Amino acid sequence: MALSDYITTFGQYLKAKYGEKIYKLSLHADVTCPNRDGSKGIGGCIFCNNKSFFPNDFKIRPIAEQITGNINRLQQKTGARKYIAYFQAYSNTYGDINYLKQLYQEALQSPDVIGLCVGTRPDCITEDVLELLHQIQQSGYEVWLELGLQSTHDTTLAAINRGHTFADYQSAIKKTSRYGLNVCTHLIAGLPGETKSMVLDSWHRVLDAGVQGVKWHPLHVVKGTQLARMWKQGDYRSISRESYLDIVGDALINTPREIIVHRVMSTVSRKDLLIEPQWTDHRWPVMNGLEAKLAAVTAPIGFAEMS
Ligand code: SF4
Repeated sequence: MALSDYITTFGQYLKAKYGEKIYKLSLHADVTCPNRDGSKGIGGCIFCNNKSFFPNDFKIRPIAEQITGNINRLQQKTGARKYIAYFQAYSNTYGDINYLKQLYQEALQSPDVIGLCVGTRPDCITEDVLELLHQIQQSGYEVWLELGLQSTHDTTLAAINRGHTFADYQSAIKKTSRYGLNVCTHLIAGLPGETKSMVLDSWHRVLDAGVQGVKWHPLHVVKGTQLARMWKQGDYRSISRESYLDIVGDALINTPREIIVHRVMSTVSRKDLLIEPQWTDHRWPVMNGLEAKLAAVTAPIGFAEMS
């Protein structure tokens, strides 16, 4: 058995829908974030060092070039045939609508790219961008908006300097649902001052708001951030693997099968920037631990049950 026998993973969902494995192409667009460019703030979230998303020698290249390079690499390594373009870092719905249109269109130029995942913040969702993504979806592409929320508790959102509230998220979800777009919400376990019940409470509130997918992350302490300074001064201690398994395991147990789980943990690409938790460098003990937790209380999914 594997974790995917107990939850509906994004990989399973895509394979069932497209009849083969779909690979993600990570793309980096020339965009920013209102919590960094001064519209909401300049320091960003206390844990954010966007360098941790990129390899050491990273330089932004045109999207079409990134697509071709990534496809060539994946084809050689895995024999991949179909892809989903993933705009991950910063807020990829924040900017001039014509520029965003050009970005998305460039990503969809290859006939082997079947859709888009677009990472953003709840306060960067405009009617224009929703209309654009809706049109892309209507023309037959898979479209997911990935909303970074992290917590539904406004005290936590203020403490981590997110620059948006839970009400902003609820409003974004309401707007998005009018356009029939899929939303995957990002949540973090291990935020400063958050207990297990607060994290699970966030998960229930996200489910109540209406969402199609979720990504779980442990909070990483990365060099060059406010969180790293708090950690150094002894004002923050990172989450242990045991606590993470306990909290995210319970959240997964309480996840309806129609919810697509895009990720159950994340790692930092730039290992040299990671201070803590060092256990996040090792993915499999977490996957196996979550599987064991689910196996103890949940019957395996016959994947055919999901459509
Ligand atoms: S919203 Fe994202 S990109 Fe912006 S500061 Fe926070 S983590 Fe960084």
